[in-house]
Amino acid sequence: MLPMVSQMPLLNAAALPLRSVQTITGSVLVVAPHPDDETLGCGGAIALLRTLGYPVQILVMSDGTMSHPRSLKYPTPRLQALREAETLEAMSILGVSEAAVTFLRLQDGSIPTSTSPGRQEVVARCRTWLEPLQPATIFLPWRADPHPDHRATWTLMRAALADFNEAPRMIEYPIWDWDPEQQGALANFTQVMGWRLDIRSMLETKQAAIAAYRSQTTNLIDDDPDGFQLTPEMLANFARPWEVYLEEMP
Ligand SMILES: [Zn+2]
Repeated sequence: MLPMVSQMPLLNAAALPLRSVQTITGSVLVVAPHPDDETLGCGGAIALLRTLGYPVQILVMSDGTMSHPRSLKYPTPRLQALREAETLEAMSILGVSEAAVTFLRLQDGSIPTSTSPGRQEVVARCRTWLEPLQPATIFLPWRADPHPDHRATWTLMRAALADFNEAPRMIEYPIWDWDPEQQGALANFTQVMGWRLDIRSMLETKQAAIAAYRSQTTNLIDDDPDGFQLTPEMLANFARPWEVYLEEMP
């Protein structure tokens, strides 16, 4: 029996039990609210799964263009193209082909929540896309992530999967797991357990894939005072030899 997360906050993530990647079965889908979440949260898992020959699909929900909303050098279409190219490069490093990556191109910052107009249409799009795929395992953002797009992605995908005959295994990944708000939120989910995946053998590969996101990790886009950049402090959270996953008890 694995310990419940509510009794073991993520601050002590290093104490969570380790699970083998081979406990994952079948075809795998990784859902990213923004281009880079799949690599930051699950880069080690993706590389491990691909090394073992698992089919892995990537679904990127938003276009990522809110990272630098005021850049003149990178207006929205150019920034979107850049971020998609970065995703494809990162996935190539992790062993995922271009054909296995889908961009839904929802507006960054506006992934529909349960009360947004137009949500049903997006749910239907996701369902239509998921039906022929029938993934056995889905990696989703952690449902209580402080970023609204991450939480909205979780609820959207759950809605899109609601009518499936066989529910896939759903594994959630935290991104901003050092955030105090999220640490507090964990106590509300008593049915959720946490575990770690040892990614030591893939750590360099994961770091190379993260570095492919130059728009997020360097000064490549230097003309937006509101531009987002992953700081060395943030990046340190993704340089651990393990990844944390959260999963609902059956
Ligand atoms: Zn994100």
